[in-house]
Amino acid sequence: MTHPRIDIPEGFRAFPTAVSRASTTLFPNVAALREAETQSDPLWSYGLNSTPTQMELAQRLAQMEGGAHCLLLPSGLSAISLTLFACLKAGDEILAPDNAYGPLRTHANWLARDYGLQVRYYDPMLGAGVGALISPQTKLIWIETPGSVTMELPDVPAIAAAARGILTAMDHTWTGGLLIRPFELGVDISIQALTKYQSGASDVLMGSVVTRDAALHTRLLKIRKLLGLGVSSDDCYFILRSLPTLAARLRAHEERALALAQWLRERPEVYRVLHPAFPECPGHVNWLRDYSGASSLFSAVFHQRFGQSRIDAFIDDLRLFGIGYSWGGAHSLALPYDIPAMRSAASWPPADWPAREDAGILVRFYCGLEDAPDLIEDVRQSMARHLV
Ligand SMILES: *Cc1c(COP(=O)(O)O)cnc(C)c1O
Repeated sequence: MTHPRIDIPEGFRAFPTAVSRASTTLFPNVAALREAETQSDPLWSYGLNSTPTQMELAQRLAQMEGGAHCLLLPSGLSAISLTLFACLKAGDEILAPDNAYGPLRTHANWLARDYGLQVRYYDPMLGAGVGALISPQTKLIWIETPGSVTMELPDVPAIAAAARGILTAMDHTWTGGLLIRPFELGVDISIQALTKYQSGASDVLMGSVVTRDAALHTRLLKIRKLLGLGVSSDDCYFILRSLPTLAARLRAHEERALALAQWLRERPEVYRVLHPAFPECPGHVNWLRDYSGASSLFSAVFHQRFGQSRIDAFIDDLRLFGIGYSWGGAHSLALPYDIPAMRSAASWPPADWPAREDAGILVRFYCGLEDAPDLIEDVRQSMARHLV
C-alpha cells in the first residue's frame, strides 16, 4: 500500500499538463544524488526547486515574453522582493519610479531603513534623464509600465539606454506579459504578477522573473534557493490551464475598458481619464510605439467638487464592480486612491494639466468580462445618485 508504481503510464496523451506533486524527488541511485550535489541547478533535485509542471509553466512564460529563463515565485511581490535581494546589497542604490506599485515602495523603504540600502525615487516621465541620477552606488533601475494607478507610460528604451550597463528590471503586470516586448526594449529583468491576467480567475497567487542572460538567471536562482521560495504544481496547473485563453481574454478586457473609458471621458463629472490609449495619458506616444494593445485597468480623476464621501458612496453603490485589491479575473473592480500621499518625487496633479486645482479624487477601474453596456449602465446609475 505504501509503495505504489511510480512511473508515468505509457501511451496516455492529453492536452492538459500533468500535475506532478512532489516534495521528495527520487534519485535513481546514490551516485546520481552525489552528481546532483555538484551542480548549481540540477534538473530534478527537490520539489521546492523544480517539478515537470513548474518547468512547463516557466518555459512557456519565458517563451511568451521573448526571454530565455523564468523563475516562478509565490506572488508578484515575492518576484519583486527576489529581484531586489539578488541585485542589491548593503550600500547599493536602487532608482525607482515615483508611481511604482505601492508594496515595492514599502519593501524598498524597509530595506533602506533596516538593511543599509539606498532608494531614490524618480519622476516616471524623466526618460533618458534617469541617467543623470545614476551614482557609483546605483546597481538597479526599476521601471514600471504603465505606472500603478496613475498610468504614466515611461520611455522604456530611453531609460534602458541611459542605464549604461546597470541592471534594469521592469514590472509590466498590466500587459499580461503579451502587450510589450521587454527584452527588445533593452530591459534585463521582466517581472509579472501572474496573479492577475495569467491566472484570470482571482484564485491563484504567483509571480515570475524572466531573463535572457544565463548568469543573471543563475544569480536570481541562487537567491530563490537561499530564501526557500517555490510554488506548488497545483497552482502552476491553474495558470497553465488559463494561458491558452490569455490573448483572447485580453482582447475582450481591452474592448470593455475602452468602451467604459470613452464613456467616462465625455462625462462632466470627470476631470480626466487616464487610459494609455488616450492622448491625454502621460507617455501615450510611448504606448503607441511600444505596445500592441491595451488591457483593462485604467483610472478616472473626478472633479474636485466631489469630495471623498461622495466618491466613496459612488463606489459603494456600484453593483457590478467589487471593492478589493488585485485584478485580472472575470469580475470588475473599483477603488479610490489618494495620489499625493503616495508620491515623493513628482508633483500630483502634473504641473502641465489645465486648471489642475479642479483635479480631485482618482478612481481606479478594472473591467472584467461583463458586457460593456452593463458596466456603463452601472457606473451611470451610481453617478446619477451620488455625483450630482
Ligand atoms: C498585483 C501587482 C503585483 C503583486 O502581485 P501579488 O501576486 O498580488 O503579490 C506587483 N506588481 C504590480 C504592478 C501589480 O499590479
